[in-house]
Amino acid sequence: MSTNDELYQRGLRVIPGGVNSPVRAFRSVGGTPYFVASGSGSRVTDVEGREFIDYVQSYGASILGHAHPVVVDAVRDAAGRGSTFGAPTEGEVRMAEEIVARVPGMEQVRLVSSGTEATMSAIRLARGVTGRDRIVKFEGNYHGHSDALLAAAGSGVAEAVLGTGARPDSGGVTAGAVADTVVHPYNVVPTLDDTVAVVIVEPVAANMGLVPPVDGFLTGLRAECDRVGALLLFDEVITGFRLGVGGATGWSGVTPDLWCFGKVIGGGLPVGAFGASAAVMSSIAPLGPVYQAGTLSGNPLATAAGLAVLSQLDASAYERLVATATALADGLSAAFADAGVAAVVPRVGPLVGLFFLPDTPDASDPRGGVPVDFATVAASVDLGRYPAWFHGMLDHGIALAPGPYEVMFPSLAHTDADVEATLAAARAVAPTL
Ligand SMILES: *Cc1c(COP(=O)(O)O)cnc(C)c1O
Repeated sequence: MSTNDELYQRGLRVIPGGVNSPVRAFRSVGGTPYFVASGSGSRVTDVEGREFIDYVQSYGASILGHAHPVVVDAVRDAAGRGSTFGAPTEGEVRMAEEIVARVPGMEQVRLVSSGTEATMSAIRLARGVTGRDRIVKFEGNYHGHSDALLAAAGSGVAEAVLGTGARPDSGGVTAGAVADTVVHPYNVVPTLDDTVAVVIVEPVAANMGLVPPVDGFLTGLRAECDRVGALLLFDEVITGFRLGVGGATGWSGVTPDLWCFGKVIGGGLPVGAFGASAAVMSSIAPLGPVYQAGTLSGNPLATAAGLAVLSQLDASAYERLVATATALADGLSAAFADAGVAAVVPRVGPLVGLFFLPDTPDASDPRGGVPVDFATVAASVDLGRYPAWFHGMLDHGIALAPGPYEVMFPSLAHTDADVEATLAAARAVAPTL
């Protein structure tokens, strides 16, 4: 049997950085990544036999927990019938029906294979529909790694340049590719003009830690888009089917023109989706001039897994998730307070964040110290406290994301006992920070 270090060394020789997605390399926390041998429910076990209570859950792709029996059975059955055909299948229709039924205002959806593909395609659609070039995004929001959206992105893009003082961005993205991308600070409604095709936003920002929208931000975006005839796009790759049955649309009461989904709806398999009204979607090929395609789009294994997941996500499932997240957030807050560590643990529905702070927040601050935009997030990250917290928790059997720009993803498999074990670990680690 191989150790984590042996696998990492082998990986480093044949995979850049030893990983297939940068955050996994532990660069912003230091040390050797654990290689997962298996996962079950709330737990993952690494190749050395260490078990962790897992709050990464594939960055939110795994809302039922790992290897849930309904997903395993659905995928196994589907695999036996053939894994891809290049012809439509019933699963695609059922999956689209399920998604459309849940999201108020969305009439049609197209399935793709990742969140990146969903946002890239939706941007192309918005430009095609409006005949305009410009896109507006917000600093610290992550929308996948297509060129036009790799400007001031959060998540791993922010980590890759940590400490260099450079603007989060990527080599290989030409000035031309982002020339029509306009970046604004999160939580401030920008003034738009009639060159803007689309405003893309994470309705609850979850790729720069967890930054909730301020009152009036999403409604203000809706009004400003309407004023100039721009489309509003909610990137719900994290919030979709996680904040509640109707995702961020249901949660906020603000209805965008375009939606992007991913993560949860794949049940751990590669799936994304973008949707809109039937009128807007009629611009997509084969009905309209905006081309979009995919060999594995609507893949039978992925739709089987997605349908299995959605079948579990009723209102009571969200109540359970929120209860778990609330116990986790409240308990972590208390652990930090008792240890005299200045930190704030924001929660939105079942999403939980963590920001270390320079000082205990002023009692008059209505956000209790929760950052409002990327600049305030970066100031928290720059305190440099996350790596010690991460490793302390890992040593106590709790797996958090290996980077300060991510959030915690309690799943339906996390029990009260899991949360209590997590809080016991936090009470042990917090005083050492
Ligand atoms: C993860 C994420 C994406 C990209 O999805 P991939 O499946 O990793 O390509 C896009 N937008 C948001 C909000 C995300 O969290």
